[in-house]
Amino acid sequence: MSAKIYGTPVVQGVAYGTSAWINRPALPPESAPYLPDHVREDEVGRFLEASDAVANGLFEKASHTDGEAAEVLIMTASMATDRAWTKDVSTRIRSGIPALQAVMAATERFVIQFETAGGLMAERVTDLRDVRDRVLARLQGIPEPGIPDLDTPFILLADDLSPADTAGLDPATCLGIATKFGGPTSHTSIISRQLGIPCIVAARGLGEVHNGQAVLLDATQGTISTGIDEDEAAERVRLDRDRATKVSQWSGPARTADGVNIDLLANVADPQSSHRAHDAGLAKGVGLLRTELAFLKTSVEPSVDEQTRIYVEALEPWAGHKVVIRTLDAGSDKPVPYATLRDEPNPALGVRGIRTTGPFPKVLPNQLDAIAVAAMASPEVDVWVMAPMVSTLSEAEWFVSLVAERNETFGVSLKAGIMIEVPATAILIDQFLEVVDFVSIGTNDLTQYTMATDRESADLAEYSDPWQPAPLALIKHIAQAGVRAGKPVGVCGEAAADPLLAAVLVGMGVTSLSMASGAIAGVGALLADHTLDECRTGADAVIGAHDGADARYRVRVALGLLSARG
Ligand code: PEP
Ligand code: MG
Repeated sequence: MSAKIYGTPVVQGVAYGTSAWINRPALPPESAPYLPDHVREDEVGRFLEASDAVANGLFEKASHTDGEAAEVLIMTASMATDRAWTKDVSTRIRSGIPALQAVMAATERFVIQFETAGGLMAERVTDLRDVRDRVLARLQGIPEPGIPDLDTPFILLADDLSPADTAGLDPATCLGIATKFGGPTSHTSIISRQLGIPCIVAARGLGEVHNGQAVLLDATQGTISTGIDEDEAAERVRLDRDRATKVSQWSGPARTADGVNIDLLANVADPQSSHRAHDAGLAKGVGLLRTELAFLKTSVEPSVDEQTRIYVEALEPWAGHKVVIRTLDAGSDKPVPYATLRDEPNPALGVRGIRTTGPFPKVLPNQLDAIAVAAMASPEVDVWVMAPMVSTLSEAEWFVSLVAERNETFGVSLKAGIMIEVPATAILIDQFLEVVDFVSIGTNDLTQYTMATDRESADLAEYSDPWQPAPLALIKHIAQAGVRAGKPVGVCGEAAADPLLAAVLVGMGVTSLSMASGAIAGVGALLADHTLDECRTGADAVIGAHDGADARYRVRVALGLLSARG
């Protein structure tokens, strides 16, 4: 019997192999008879010994790992000996609850706290539960949960992966990963990106796949299929290898198969990443300098001189090219200490981006002064500046007037634009385009606000998918308005880094795509294989799509990347 399960692809690639579920022992019963007084202290000792052993084991694993994987392992190890958690468990044991049940109850209390905090904290729930399972295993004298010990290559399936599960994962044996939960920023995604293992998250129906079944994981489409003919599976893996080879060989310049130039730009965060993106040699400039990321740990607003120094350094490699500097997108998921309101009940819908100029009126004028002086010191660089989170025409007009003042005062020619991240702005795009020189679509936030979904929510990854028909319809509306107005429309959200979606965006009329510089070759290689007309056919194919998965499928068929049954 064949079955197809859909999820959100986070690392491209196609793999075929035997499924292997991560082994997780069943949880003990939630309640158990009370402990007599005289054994309670011993039980606390037993728990502390178990949690110490878990932490030590994880620290040990971290010492054999490096990069982000080591960091997340150390963080998980620290959870096992976290004072608040161990104290909560110990107090419960001292009140007579056996260690197993005390560990489960205390963990659930922290899970609720993390989930209530939302965002990145909520994504740490998997780590917390992993620590719980390890301590429970130690207390019961059984092996800690983990990756099955197999000699043959496998496709790893799990509810979600913790860092401890994935440390030491070998891409030679683990061909692909699929999880029921997790989002694009969860550990599963981070680790699979780091290891280059094709990966799909948020595949809710994954439970239908049994251990040991032959599985075709297609993380270009976001599907996990069983019951596929072996020859067909082998052919799809081969085609994907060809794609990967083309990507590794692509060296630009970026153009469609019929020779239409497309600007592929880099997203950077600070001078270091700007230099790295330049040295990688594929980006045609910078499409998004997220200035707030350089100041996330800065408690007092840096002086204009200090900011100027940072911007000059970031501009330095890009003589003869364009660099789009975004003014501070403080607030919500990027809480710059000197420009963020504390304790907002709903920060994503609150004072963020250009709205912070209400409570912090000096910050934007100072930043624009610094950008103008940096542009003056970098005459060879074409400096554009844009404001995030613009939702009204007055904000756009005001921002443009501030930039015009700097152009006059400092004798520079900064172009003034806005990000399109709010549906209100997307809907009225024609009016905004009359005011600004250019726009850049922030698909991460545009999707978040269109779908009414916290972009950080691990539980709602399928809603935060820019392939959803509604954000795609808005993007098309914006791009077509740009074509009519003859003004540049870029995309600088994650959508630009998805090669298939990039072709759709080009087909819609988007003029530049900005992404993490490591993603440029993948996008460039796919565009090189398709004419502008094919990209337009891809853009038309998403009209009427039922959901994100259907939109992906339709575009693959339209671009001839899939047989009708695939
Ligand atoms: C976006 O929202 O798509 C974007 C590029 O901005 P950020 O991800 O920094 O909010
Ligand atoms: Mg944004």
